[in-house]
Amino acid sequence: MSGSKSITLGDLELTPLFDAYFRLDGGAMFGVVPKPLWERRAPADERNRIHLTTRPLLVRTGFTRLLVDAGIGNKMSAKNVDIYAIDRRRDLAGSLAEAGLRTGDVDLVLASHLHFDHFGGATATDESGAIRPAFPAARYLVRADEWEDATHPHERNRASYLPDDFVPLQTAGVLDLFDGDREILPGVRVHWTGGHARSHQVIYLESGGRTAVFTADMIPTTAHIDEPWIMGYDLYPMETLAFKRTFIRQAIEREYLILFEHDPVVSAGYIREKDGKKFVEPIISDS
Ligand SMILES: [Zn+2]
Repeated sequence: MSGSKSITLGDLELTPLFDAYFRLDGGAMFGVVPKPLWERRAPADERNRIHLTTRPLLVRTGFTRLLVDAGIGNKMSAKNVDIYAIDRRRDLAGSLAEAGLRTGDVDLVLASHLHFDHFGGATATDESGAIRPAFPAARYLVRADEWEDATHPHERNRASYLPDDFVPLQTAGVLDLFDGDREILPGVRVHWTGGHARSHQVIYLESGGRTAVFTADMIPTTAHIDEPWIMGYDLYPMETLAFKRTFIRQAIEREYLILFEHDPVVSAGYIREKDGKKFVEPIISDS
């Protein structure tokens, strides 16, 4: 098991963290791609689930400690722990400690979107059973349209939005909603993609002439670097395709460092292309 490894990008220090191993249905993770193709990249277990992780990103810039996404957290029911094979023997608090921080040291928590595998860890159950913000000194930054969708779910996304993950933030008065693409901190900006959810966003990290991108559920694992390998979960898959067509070309040409939030092994790497085939050159992976 690897400790925390960081990447210096100009004035930004990026540290991929870890919250949980979990598993999701392989068919749902690859949409229209047939199983004989996807299982070569992502072997399925006896319940057809593939191995995934949640890897929130710590961004340190000057005096600010920003967390991008917050993992699954500790509130899952025993039933969901079984359904999703959630294994948090190594969790976000431990991973932060490896990076030299306590939960109280985090200043800002930014959501790519509010699905439970991305923002479940924004809140936590304390010893008395109460649900509180997991990072006691932090403000929580959420796109206003995503807040609207998460608090008004429909039949197709209801299983992904668990109110205990985000409503307690509003109750505690630590929630900041914002509209549109913007710079969150110098060198850290959010970019709307839609696709996976109506207001899903990716996060660009730009400093010292280099770019890293936290691609969240647009390119969740290294197995998703081909354009049509799009999750069946996506509400607007043609938006995902449009984003990937442009983005992956740019990522190869401009050497963006990609931060993979769900890959079972690789936290960060470059998308390369050789003889028309894309592959990932890992920069940080679990040993
Ligand atoms: Zn996800």
